[in-house]
Amino acid sequence: MINQGRRALFRPQQDAPIRMPWTVVENDFLANCTRCNQCIDACEPKIIVKGSGGFPSIDFSHNECTFCQQCVQACPEPVFRSIDEQPWQLKAQINDGCLAQQRVECRSCGDSCEPQAIRFKLTVGMAALPQIDLDQCNGCGACVSVCPTTAITMISKQEKQ
Ligand code: SF4
Ligand code: SF4
Ligand code: SF4
Repeated sequence: MINQGRRALFRPQQDAPIRMPWTVVENDFLANCTRCNQCIDACEPKIIVKGSGGFPSIDFSHNECTFCQQCVQACPEPVFRSIDEQPWQLKAQINDGCLAQQRVECRSCGDSCEPQAIRFKLTVGMAALPQIDLDQCNGCGACVSVCPTTAITMISKQEKQ
């Protein structure tokens, strides 16, 4: 039964760009980011790219976020929240392209997941299927680039009271 009092909305990645961890809400971000690129230069894994309108956004296609906070330190503008707060509400989502769903054994995503948020469920006559524990997933994106069929996307989970 659906809990009407507390619903979780999942927004697909393509609906809105993913900003850096600890950024303020999108409207405030767009109003204050000067597109100076200092965060892009500071990010060692090079996952911050120049996105739509020249605003920085996250691209997990080659690497993951290490939560090093270098983007936060480098930015001269008020577009980041306190690093004592949760970095973001991003969670990984596995879609139908997953090899295990085609009965092909693959554990690449699980091997890359440091918080061990991906577990494999054994099913008779099938390859073990990956399942993401959303409470454990920190949204680092490490599982995205290692998936041979690009079956993993990052989505923003927004809680509505
Ligand atoms: S926290 Fe570090 S790795 Fe993550 S986006 Fe910022 S600079 Fe890049
Ligand atoms: S460092 Fe701050 S102001 Fe400059 S582009 Fe990055 S988020 Fe925008
Ligand atoms: S985003 Fe990071 S923590 Fe979440 S499932 Fe993928 S590798 Fe694990």
